[in-house]
Amino acid sequence: MPMRFYQLQRPLPETAKHWSGSLSAEHVWTLPGVECPTCHETWSGQLSLPGVDLSSLLEQDSLVEPRVEPHAEYARLAALVQPLLPLGMMAEPGMQFGPLRGTAHGAWGPLSARFGWEVLVTQEALRHLQAAGIRGLVPVRTELQGLEAGVALHELELPIRGLLHRDSVLTGPKCRTCGWYETRIAPEPWLDGDALPHEVDLFRPENGTTYTLVNERFVEAVHALGPSDVTFREVRVMPVSRSGSLH
Ligand SMILES: [Zn+2]
Repeated sequence: MPMRFYQLQRPLPETAKHWSGSLSAEHVWTLPGVECPTCHETWSGQLSLPGVDLSSLLEQDSLVEPRVEPHAEYARLAALVQPLLPLGMMAEPGMQFGPLRGTAHGAWGPLSARFGWEVLVTQEALRHLQAAGIRGLVPVRTELQGLEAGVALHELELPIRGLLHRDSVLTGPKCRTCGWYETRIAPEPWLDGDALPHEVDLFRPENGTTYTLVNERFVEAVHALGPSDVTFREVRVMPVSRSGSLH
């Protein structure tokens, strides 16, 4: 049997929730959005890398306020950040760094999805996932006031691996100045079976970094923790993978 893959999502708003947890928090640092003189787009991406620490930068104070800057200023700040990013990762407008800082309210289940793609786990759930041998866990402890006594929340920084299948993603040409390109992703995209990551159990595809993908090992480990306010939509794989079998 080939490994099955799933997209982790938030339950629909009308679904009754198991947990009351909510938060008002931001990552510590952010690159500004960009106003591009070449393509005339003003844009920000949505990717956060909570494990990246910018506290060594002399200009870290210019990397706190979310805003839009002309391309020259954006490029200057992006060049400061670039050496601190994981290998192969390019800085992009609006990219956020550092732990979530702010306030939390209510009771938290084992796993939660902020905005549908940022994944939060309790300390206890993290321990269980680690004990179950889940691969690709990079937890970053949040800095939140108001959590119940004894509760700690970690955000998972997901490895960027694999690809949504090219037939489910339409992309236009890339702007030579700011890197912007038009992209349209099918409502239920599928995965490229020739580019599946087999060394991790959760990941974000390179061409769809707001998609949180997990495999059946991860889903089984999460279900063993009791109810969480997340859903798992099975994602097709084309062509069907001949490697990465369970047996
Ligand atoms: Zn541009």
